[in-house]
Amino acid sequence: MTRYLFRDTESYLLMAKSKLRIIPIGGLGEIGKNMTVFEMGNDAFIIDTGIMFPANDMHGVDYIIPDFRYLQERKDLKIHAIVYTHGHEDHIGAVSHVVEAFPNTPIYATPLTAGLLEVRLKERRALDKTKINVFNSGDKLKVGPFMLESFHMCHSIPDCVGFGIYTPYGLIVYSGDYKFDNSPVDGKKPDYARLARFASEGVTLLMAESTNADKPGWTPSETVIDDAFDRVFKKAKGRIFVATFASLISRVQQVVNAAERYGRKVAVAGHSMSENVKMARRLGILNLPDSMLLDVSKLNSISDNQVVIMLTGAQGEPTAALTKVANGEHRQLKQAFPFRALRRDEKTCCNCTGDSPETQVPLLR
Ligand SMILES: [Zn+2]
Repeated sequence: MTRYLFRDTESYLLMAKSKLRIIPIGGLGEIGKNMTVFEMGNDAFIIDTGIMFPANDMHGVDYIIPDFRYLQERKDLKIHAIVYTHGHEDHIGAVSHVVEAFPNTPIYATPLTAGLLEVRLKERRALDKTKINVFNSGDKLKVGPFMLESFHMCHSIPDCVGFGIYTPYGLIVYSGDYKFDNSPVDGKKPDYARLARFASEGVTLLMAESTNADKPGWTPSETVIDDAFDRVFKKAKGRIFVATFASLISRVQQVVNAAERYGRKVAVAGHSMSENVKMARRLGILNLPDSMLLDVSKLNSISDNQVVIMLTGAQGEPTAALTKVANGEHRQLKQAFPFRALRRDEKTCCNCTGDSPETQVPLLR
């Protein structure tokens, strides 16, 4: 059993003298920039390398990366790997910056996360700086002297994992972002059995994602969104725009399913979301048949009530497709929809609530 991997070995005795340090470079007490370093002696590995989206008043800032100068200064430190919990931007978005700072550090990720990382690294021309190793939830990873056992977790994106991290000081359980969702979109529940086994082995430290942890109650299952889509799709007479994160493949699947139920085709606007959709279809994670996919350039060839357009920008990110449409800067969707009205003050799109009186465009959040 991995737990006893280091026992009775010379390396265990050597390592037992080294302090174990867990250093949150970002993501603690803030939303975004998730990046944590585990370090023992001269050996280290990183979990996640995320970005933070800029606040409304950070004009000209595309995104914010974690401040990892500490690692750059620690020349003695051998970073054995970067492992990823899931593919959200706030967990993978800074990957190109980190692999450029630490070239040839291998990456470990589950299939969807690996695909999203590949898209991101290609965009930033940094794919040749690292090697992406794919693993499946439940797999064990030997990362330098550390032994990691991954376990499946639910969240708002498929292929999420947490890690049991075996150290000479005991077992650390790192949850990653999680939701105890018993009716997830992809049907895969959290790996309760493995969590129970960890508990029976004895957990020295639990590191659990804490967003909204101070709010009592349960987060509703992702599937409640299906009912909301049904209500909107049933009523909508014209085009439907759905804004979400480029990496939110489960949400894309839900939109595709709703589109199918209501006889609409799906168009995907924006580079990052198009690339992610392409990759997820290739991996078989996203079920979107060719017959339902419509190129954005062909939008004028179809009635408004037969299409749903997916795009990024739910949070008013300055470079997202929705923001470009709202500013009249989107190449193909400039005249497609009077979105400008949604941005009638300095606040971003997501801060606008209710219907737009100028255009009678219903906005649902
Ligand atoms: Zn997440």
